[in-house]
Amino acid sequence: MVHNMIAVIGGGPAGLFAARLIKLNQPSTDVVVYERNGSDVATFGFGVGLTEATMSNIAAADPHASELVRQASHAGHDLQLRTGTASVPLHGARNLAIGRAELLAVLTKLALEAGVTIRDGQRVLVDDITADVIVAADGVRSATRAKYAEQLGVHESIGRGLYMWCGTDFAVDSAFFSSRTLGDGLYVAHAYPYTSERSTFLLETDDETWDAVGLGEFDAATAPGESDERSLAILTEAFADELAGHRLLANRSRWARFSTIGLDRWWADNVVFLGDAAHTAHYTLGSGTKLAMEDAIALSQALAGTSDIAAAFAEYETRRRPPVDRFKLLAARSQRWWESYRLRYQAPAEQIALSFMTRAGNLSVADFARNEPETAAAALASLGGGRPSDPSELDDWIMTRMTPATDAPVADVHWREPDVWGREADTVVTSLASARAVRLDGPDDDSAVGARIDLAERIRLTSNAMTIVALPDKDRTQGTSAVAARRCDRIELRD
Ligand SMILES: Cc1cc2nc3c(=O)[nH]c(=O)nc-3n(C[C@H](O)[C@H](O)[C@H](O)COP(=O)(O)OP(=O)(O)OC[C@H]3O[C@@H](n4cnc5c(N)ncnc54)[C@H](O)[C@@H]3O)c2cc1C
Repeated sequence: MVHNMIAVIGGGPAGLFAARLIKLNQPSTDVVVYERNGSDVATFGFGVGLTEATMSNIAAADPHASELVRQASHAGHDLQLRTGTASVPLHGARNLAIGRAELLAVLTKLALEAGVTIRDGQRVLVDDITADVIVAADGVRSATRAKYAEQLGVHESIGRGLYMWCGTDFAVDSAFFSSRTLGDGLYVAHAYPYTSERSTFLLETDDETWDAVGLGEFDAATAPGESDERSLAILTEAFADELAGHRLLANRSRWARFSTIGLDRWWADNVVFLGDAAHTAHYTLGSGTKLAMEDAIALSQALAGTSDIAAAFAEYETRRRPPVDRFKLLAARSQRWWESYRLRYQAPAEQIALSFMTRAGNLSVADFARNEPETAAAALASLGGGRPSDPSELDDWIMTRMTPATDAPVADVHWREPDVWGREADTVVTSLASARAVRLDGPDDDSAVGARIDLAERIRLTSNAMTIVALPDKDRTQGTSAVAARRCDRIELRD
């Protein structure tokens, strides 16, 4: 036996799955999960999505768990992008969806089956516990993380957009993103079914709406824990078509801003962090539960068969940091795309669809055209005629359809900061107010390349300047996607 006692703080997906896997690997170790909510307390949130890639990773580590999670899930569904006037199909949404409560019930059963002790209704702090290893899986507001903040190096940024997690008491017939205006407000719904009679209905809005409609009045007047009934009434009216006479279900639902958490290191002393306690990635990538469960797999494997806790924690972090960082990068770009939706929502639906699918830089125009040829054809029509029928030839064609080089003076901007809507970016954009053409260059790492494409898009959406992005040859496909999705007018490739 390598550890006598392992304590897990938090009975969410990360904590429960880690506890089960650790106990299966180390049957003689006592594994205890402390969860502050009693089993009678309704959990926050409605459904969450799980991709087939995530399900394969779970199946490889724990086939039985994968089977039970799949049984409790709602099968994949189509995805549409809807504006007030049009609806276009999007591909890539054949995810499973599962109610958060159902997922926790399955993971609880699996943990108990493995021999884990679960202490429900016990809020614990790390100082209350004695154990060889303490697994901090206490979520985005982790008190354990706060206690170790200095050793961990905590970074937190708060999103500009506002979201509210709601549900419906019927299954929408396909997943969709839908934008609606009502009075002075602009709202977006992200909806998908997670049982045959329930859907997640996640709503978003922005500061312009918040101020114009006075959505902040509820927050100022009401204690946490209640749902924002006034906003729910507004949203029910705005999405009357989509709700088809049903009401929005709320569970402590109120406007919130997403908190992005990152740590310089994921462990300190005998305490290791996983799931939302260690990192968060914007919900529009639908990856938080996935990352939490994959962390649990890696941690249980790193701990197995060694009594060297520090080595196990280091191995866990080394293995998990690269994929987590990649998802965080994609999620951050997705977040900024949705937070600036107001600048796009009046574009043709096909154009928005192409922009949406390529927003994080990980899907090419060719992939989009293979899956949704008609939508792609409509979105690409503005680049002119002669479009090849073979999607693999689209990148070359887009290179010939870019806005030609200009004789006008070009303002050069060196840029690498991912937050293209922050103060630093505001200063740059203001300084370019009279520029006729802007050329953005910078480092060649993925984050910097994405950042200058996103800054070019901001400039393009808010001014008349022509935008040129300099890119390394390796990012040619991302560059042509940026041109096709109107993030920039031209790309310049270099070795
Ligand atoms: C609006 C929104 C939509 C989302 N949609 C998706 C999606 O579609 N797909 C997806 O994969 N993810 C989604 N997520 C993310 C997902 O909910 C989280 O990433 C996931 O729940 C993280 O799991 P976790 O176990 O780390 O933390 P949590 O699920 O937050 O669990 C932490 C647990 O710790 C308990 N706890 C906290 N403090 C203590 C304490 N001191 N003592 C005892 N117990 C404690 C809490 O009660 C909680 O049960 C979404 C998130 C948001 C905000």
